Amino acid sequence: MNIEVIKFGGSSLADASKIKNVAKIINQKTQNETNVIVVVSAMGNSTDTLISLAKEMSNDPNHREMDVLLSTGEIVTSTLLSMHLNYSGTPSISLTGTQAGIRTDDVYGRAKIAEIDGSRIKEELKTKKVVVIAGFQGFSDKQDVTTLGRGGSDTTAVALAVALKARICEIYTDVSGVYTADPRICQNAIPLKQIGYEEMLELATTGARVISARAVEVAAINNMPIIVKNTFDSKQSGTIIQTESNMENINKVRGIAHQQKVGKITIKGVPDSPGIASSVFRPLAEANIAVDTIVQNSSSDNLTDLTFTVSIEDLVAAEKVSNSIVKNIGAKEIDSADDVGSVSIVGTGMTSSPGYAATMFEALYNKQVNIEIISTSEIRITCVVKQSNVTKAVQALHDAFKLDVE
Ligand code: ADP
Ligand code: ASP
Ligand code: MG
Repeated sequence: MNIEVIKFGGSSLADASKIKNVAKIINQKTQNETNVIVVVSAMGNSTDTLISLAKEMSNDPNHREMDVLLSTGEIVTSTLLSMHLNYSGTPSISLTGTQAGIRTDDVYGRAKIAEIDGSRIKEELKTKKVVVIAGFQGFSDKQDVTTLGRGGSDTTAVALAVALKARICEIYTDVSGVYTADPRICQNAIPLKQIGYEEMLELATTGARVISARAVEVAAINNMPIIVKNTFDSKQSGTIIQTESNMENINKVRGIAHQQKVGKITIKGVPDSPGIASSVFRPLAEANIAVDTIVQNSSSDNLTDLTFTVSIEDLVAAEKVSNSIVKNIGAKEIDSADDVGSVSIVGTGMTSSPGYAATMFEALYNKQVNIEIISTSEIRITCVVKQSNVTKAVQALHDAFKLDVE
């Protein structure tokens, strides 16, 4: 079977006329013989609206109920799109994540896909229907609905493409591919023709939300090519994400990523003795909180300060866990901040060329941007800066590395 998986994000499905526009794109796709599986996100910002509603009911909504609630957003779009496809002459059926056979673990709010039983999807494809699947959701062994975490529809699409041995996975969004920086805050950002999995993963992890990091990870492991395209300008060729030989791009910054808001926690007066770091980070890991940059200051009087960042969504939970860590290890107190963000430069071969860090720090200094924390990986340098400086830092770095020149 020649199968194509195409995913449309919430911005492409924000109202009735946009849903009809998506149906048109699908109608065109079905002109040739390809079997089309469509994955959809919830309309516009409707997931945020559902989260706000839940928080009016309880300041810590029950996780199981929350997942059922949030899964309805994607069910709304899948049914509406399927209705319009049928009306406009393309036979179609919508499936929830459960009906599509997407089995996950039982971690509500950030479930991982364990297995996909594609038999129902294949049955429907055989009857020449376009199968429209509600993204971002699955079911646990207890038959409860689970969700995959924010941006999870991208993961649904790539995982389905892998499970059903599709040729390619197309991600349709509201910009013309993966740019050298977020085109909404960097005026001269340009779309990349192609990018390798490794660089894309670093960009996505550090804030380029055009595709979710987990989706890139699934694609990389399974060698599934992804094309990121513009729903509203289908003439643009978009960006292909695939295995890339580094021959041509070595020693080049490929892109700038940013996070407008991250959470920062400092545990003060930590006893400086072996095993302390694990006593801090194990409980955070057990609470499913991913920690980004970590800095341990040099100690005086055998006491040290430990600073780390987490995603802004995890800040409240991280504060709770950190307060209990303080008690357990006999530290002094915690200090938390939500007024910082981050900027990152990403490119293979950076570690072998020390000039990149110097250029980055100089560019930030020239704009009077103070750096609070620095962290590096083999192909990335990240600086935590005040939120109010994030936009100008992105533009300054884009200019310093001349990313507007192909
Ligand atoms: P969707 O609704 O399709 O899931 P998202 O809002 O999640 O769309 O992602 C698309 C947005 O990602 C773009 O509108 C853009 O502002 C943002 N973005 C951030 N970094 C990049 C980048 N490097 N390239 C393209 N878009 C980016
Ligand atoms: N609707 C979910 C979210 O807003 C999932 C997605 O859009 O991919 O995060
Ligand atoms: Mg998205």
